[in-house]
Amino acid sequence: MTAQRKIIDRARREGRSVLTEIEAKELLKQAGISVVDTKLATSQEEAICISKQFGFPVVLKIASPDVVHKSDAGGVKLGLKTSLQVGKAYSNIMAAIKQKYPEAKIQGVSVQKMARPGVEVIIGMSKDAQFGPVIMFGLGGVLVEILKDVSFRIVPLTKRDAREMIREIKGYPLLEGYRGQEAVDVDNLEELILKVSSFVEQNPHVKEIDLNPIFAYSDGAVAVDARVMLEEG
Ligand code: ADP
Ligand code: MG
Repeated sequence: MTAQRKIIDRARREGRSVLTEIEAKELLKQAGISVVDTKLATSQEEAICISKQFGFPVVLKIASPDVVHKSDAGGVKLGLKTSLQVGKAYSNIMAAIKQKYPEAKIQGVSVQKMARPGVEVIIGMSKDAQFGPVIMFGLGGVLVEILKDVSFRIVPLTKRDAREMIREIKGYPLLEGYRGQEAVDVDNLEELILKVSSFVEQNPHVKEIDLNPIFAYSDGAVAVDARVMLEEG
């Protein structure tokens, strides 16, 4: 609880309503939500050093409260296999961001483990004027962007809510193992949704959550990107 409070309080003191990906992942990890190992690097050398600790391949991403859509801005480099590639990715990210967002406050770069591919799903939370916090579930990528194949339930969610909201999306067959693809651990996804629901109940200052994407596997799931917005004031 206290460590979670610290992250939120620091951002509020700094007048920020957006947590960085690193802060968001730290917060969610403490709430028992599975996130990919992620650390901040403030130099090329540090990025290489952390990559070696994690083991290759790794991912580098821009760490800036002013850059929300990291890949659109050239701020995400995937599948880096050597120190040399990490060093180059670091400078390429910095150059791309400085060109696209000259005013952005840059904390550095987040170094994270490259997660093995899975079925991409998303879990989100936003606050509805009438219903209060609402949790959304859907498949990731184009399926959510174009087809809006998502389901919603009001916080606090019951086990039954979580169960139903996964099963009612049109893309559910993809989770059951479509055309020889492995079935996803749906029980684990249910638990993940319920953990997000309790996290929301316990943190009224959190205004929005976007776990996009989460990689779902036959044995668990891991969020590779996380965005958390706070209430103003
Ligand atoms: P954006 O801010 O653009 O949403 P993301 O952090 O979601 O940036 O990264 C873009 C894409 O890169 C993700 O949708 C995912 O497919 C892939 N990706 C991001 N982080 C990882 C990771 N740690 N391991 C594997 N793939 C990743
Ligand atoms: Mg994302």
